[in-house]
Amino acid sequence: MYREYSTYLKEKYKEKVYKLPISLKETNCPNRDGNLGFGGCSYCGDEGVGFENLSANLSVKEQLLKNKEKISKKYKAKKFIAYFQSYSNTYISLDLFKKYITEAIIEDIVDISISTRPDCIDKPYLDFLKEIKEKYNIDITIELGLQTANYKTLDKIRRGHTLAEYIQACMLIKSYGFNICTHIILNFPWDNIEDTIETAKIISVLGNDFVKLHALYIEKNTVLAREYQNGEFTMLPLEDYIEKTITFLEYLNPDIAIQRIIGRAPEEFTLFSNWGTSWWKIKEQIEKKMKDENRYQGKLYDYGCNKALKKFD
Ligand code: SF4
Repeated sequence: MYREYSTYLKEKYKEKVYKLPISLKETNCPNRDGNLGFGGCSYCGDEGVGFENLSANLSVKEQLLKNKEKISKKYKAKKFIAYFQSYSNTYISLDLFKKYITEAIIEDIVDISISTRPDCIDKPYLDFLKEIKEKYNIDITIELGLQTANYKTLDKIRRGHTLAEYIQACMLIKSYGFNICTHIILNFPWDNIEDTIETAKIISVLGNDFVKLHALYIEKNTVLAREYQNGEFTMLPLEDYIEKTITFLEYLNPDIAIQRIIGRAPEEFTLFSNWGTSWWKIKEQIEKKMKDENRYQGKLYDYGCNKALKKFD
């Protein structure tokens, strides 16, 4: 029905591969620290911090070794991805970036995955990553937050960048031969099904390798929470999320691996999260509907810059 990331990893590395999350204490976000704005994206609470992360006071190597030991014991894992998860991990000096990336090169790391914003991508950082890739034969993945291709919604949610920066970042990253994973939220109340389709198409034509989907949740004490409490918008029903997810997958290049089809939300900090049900129940509903209706990833992947030429056949 859709290409799962675990399948991709098994095909590529011939066994299960586990992500080891890393937090950096120096990283922040230009949309929070005043460089672009204060307060961040309207839905941003303390997003920078992942649930399972160790303290950022530990060195990168210490975090990796501790998590690696734990996961190795639990799952008999042998291969790992060093995952720079928190905030915008290229929003630090080049020297510091080099130091942290170098620390992440420990035994059994097959990929270094770096989360950041599309407007925090620059050649010197990518040049260094290319050296690492070639020297150590380690894959490089850049994770970009886009959330939606609807540039009006990007403005509404105060992302601080538009679609153009995302397109430019993807083209630059691809020119280095790195993988791209884009993060998408499919149920913004301001997006309709055409926005969903266009988002899938843009991600596909820009050569993305992976996608992470999650549903919008409303974290307390955010701009979005204030707007929600003021009745400025209402959340769309779960059925709408399910339909948009399936439509998104139908238009997506079938080669793109889905890292996540719905996220977990930290309920205790939210006014609204995953329609009060668990993420895996939503995942099951998506998969059941796809099966029942014979819908699958790539079913409508028939567009592209040569589409009109087919009329001459
Ligand atoms: S880019 Fe990420 S960390 Fe920065 S404000 Fe937006 S959600 Fe928060």
